[in-house]
Amino acid sequence: MVLATNLGYPRIGARRELKKATESYWKGDLSEAELVNAASEIRKANWSTQKEAGLDMIPVGDFSFYDQVLDMTALVGAIPSRYNFQGDLVDLPTYFAMARGNDTVTAMEMTKWFDTNYHYIVPEFEAGTDFKISSSKIFDETREALDMGIPARPVLVGPVTYLSMGKTKDESDALALLPKLLPVYKEILSRLKTMGIEWVQIDEPILAMDINDAQKSALKTSCDALAGCGVKICLATYFCGLRDNEALALSLPFDALHIDLKRAPEQLDSVVQNFPAGKILSLGLIDGRNIWRANLRDALAKAQIASDKLGADRVWIAPSCSMIHSPNDLDLEVRMDEQLKSWMAYSKQKLSEIVSLRDGLANGESSIQDIFAASDAVVKDRATSPRIHNDAVKCRMSRLDASMFRRSSEFSKRREKQHAALGLPTFPTTSIGSFPQTKEIREARASYKRGDLDLQSYQQAMRDEITRVVRFQEDLDIDVLVHGEPERNDMVEYFGEQLQGYTFSQNGWVQSYGSRYVKPPIIFGDVSRPTPMTVEWSAYAQSLTQRPMKGMLTGPITMLFWSFVRDDQPRSETCKQISLAIRDEVHDLEEAGIKVIQIDEPAIREGLPLRRADWKNYLGWAVDSFRLSASCVHDETQIHTHMCYSEFNDIIDSIADLDADAISIETSRSQMELLEAFVSFDYPNEIGPGVYDIHSPRIPTQDEMIILLEKAALVLDPSQIWVNPDCGLKTRGWKEVEPALRHMVDAAKIMRKRVG
Ligand code: GLN
Ligand code: ZN
Repeated sequence: MVLATNLGYPRIGARRELKKATESYWKGDLSEAELVNAASEIRKANWSTQKEAGLDMIPVGDFSFYDQVLDMTALVGAIPSRYNFQGDLVDLPTYFAMARGNDTVTAMEMTKWFDTNYHYIVPEFEAGTDFKISSSKIFDETREALDMGIPARPVLVGPVTYLSMGKTKDESDALALLPKLLPVYKEILSRLKTMGIEWVQIDEPILAMDINDAQKSALKTSCDALAGCGVKICLATYFCGLRDNEALALSLPFDALHIDLKRAPEQLDSVVQNFPAGKILSLGLIDGRNIWRANLRDALAKAQIASDKLGADRVWIAPSCSMIHSPNDLDLEVRMDEQLKSWMAYSKQKLSEIVSLRDGLANGESSIQDIFAASDAVVKDRATSPRIHNDAVKCRMSRLDASMFRRSSEFSKRREKQHAALGLPTFPTTSIGSFPQTKEIREARASYKRGDLDLQSYQQAMRDEITRVVRFQEDLDIDVLVHGEPERNDMVEYFGEQLQGYTFSQNGWVQSYGSRYVKPPIIFGDVSRPTPMTVEWSAYAQSLTQRPMKGMLTGPITMLFWSFVRDDQPRSETCKQISLAIRDEVHDLEEAGIKVIQIDEPAIREGLPLRRADWKNYLGWAVDSFRLSASCVHDETQIHTHMCYSEFNDIIDSIADLDADAISIETSRSQMELLEAFVSFDYPNEIGPGVYDIHSPRIPTQDEMIILLEKAALVLDPSQIWVNPDCGLKTRGWKEVEPALRHMVDAAKIMRKRVG
């Protein structure tokens, strides 16, 4: 019989219960027992939901107080020595110390989980790291589920992915630890078997990534070892297709293999054709990472291909990956537009889709005719809805020509004209856009949104703030000013709210890290800009000063990656539509007398595909999108871009290809190390290497900044260098920002004297 299965369910609770409970616990308002109890309530609710939906196999161990990779670290006892872990089992205070640090010990590092916006805690290894079972969580939760009558399938991050995601402190090879790690995994599996568990899900997403020979042979060793433990193994891959690893994957001794058919539908035929006899194929047909309802007919056709070749009893239906990357329950969206809502499915709704596909495959489509008819109706509605399809946008898109992607003159010529127009000194100073978002500003925005503050008073409050920061910057003698972005809640949301084709949810939360959840905007249709978005604020700010005022926009790539994106056309297409909307804004800013315009693209690097072979294509359309948004201006208008948290070495030629007149980057923490890429590439345009670490409350001294600037001046032409902080200042307080920027301006002045 074909089964309905799942790989992971959101752990944050339908109403973000986990956030409330953990944060109260951290504050000391909730006892450990109360926190543990809240967690158990969430698990029970999740399991009941999945069971009631009709799933045949339900993940256990997908719950986490913070992160599933950290849970593995606790389970196998890879606790770095600074946490002084001595007991048998890692307790919650130690667990949270590893996640977040405390008064006496620093946290472990955190980084993005593949190409998602989920962050995991990076395991730390040394050549001498030993492993032993040090957490009972997976066993406790399995017991809890079995007691509830849940058809439980415990989930573990596989040994090779786990080691590959870690870092070694002593330059040793983490994979060398595999022989020490495998016995612990075997012991875990054996214990699960004695509890009555039949299937375990082993997540080895790296099997679908670019891996080296050592990783390949480690996967073989590992799977061989785990195959003998008496439980059946479902080996799960996701986020990419198997591609060149297909033969390896199919040769491994699994009992079931899961593949992602949302990200890589093209692998289906080949995997089915070559699939080993007697084993089960788990089909990731329902998108675990987006909010759209599935095209059930299309998914069923795929399932049918597998079933025809392998037989229905060797096919499982599943989401493409764990649903922790999707929001919880669409039913809680009580304020959402009904039509838009009818196009969407959150995790709870995706469960029904999985079950429908199972039933459709098992008993024929006619057994659930109504459900398929409803799915067809949505597909049709989305294909034709005038809310999605905007003829004016499509017409514009069909008329893009090469000239729209380049400035009219090359940089050297533009540069001359810009310098003449702006009259800036060497080492010009500026900031990245936002100034501290005080309680008063946030309160004014909130009461305007609630309707407690009328438009006029709101605008006055914002204008007052803009006036304050303009005077402040003049007083400091900053060269290129900003208006401070007081009107913006968030750099993507602010623009999304004003663009057509975007919508927002009330409850579409997904975990980013720990208790931090994000609610990404939703791009559902063709994007366009009905009216100017920032021009009034920027023009007002410019009217207050003789100095150049920098207009401040979020770029198309960042707008795309920090949203849920429509799945009915290529992302590159959607991105260019956003570019056109931004381009309109750039044009209007220039018309309004703004001479410097910054287009922020902090997400350009995180958009890089997981497989190297796909980079070129992505970077091609990403660069095009940026250029399309920026290239409509006269030579005299200076385009800036900004990127934070970025490493540039491997994409520096694309960064140069953006052809921004100036770029600001984050360099202060790495002591200008990041600049290396720019130097060895001989980056031609202007650069502002950040000299003020805005992630810290520390106020850098003038001398520290001079040291950084001296370093920069050694390797760059001094006439290329801008002086600015690492990023926007909205999370900082005025008490720090004021002296820090004062030091920054003084440092720039000293550099002018020294270097000329
Ligand atoms: N202009 C934005 C700001 O200053 C940039 C933020 C970012 O790069 N993340 O806040
Ligand atoms: Zn930034």
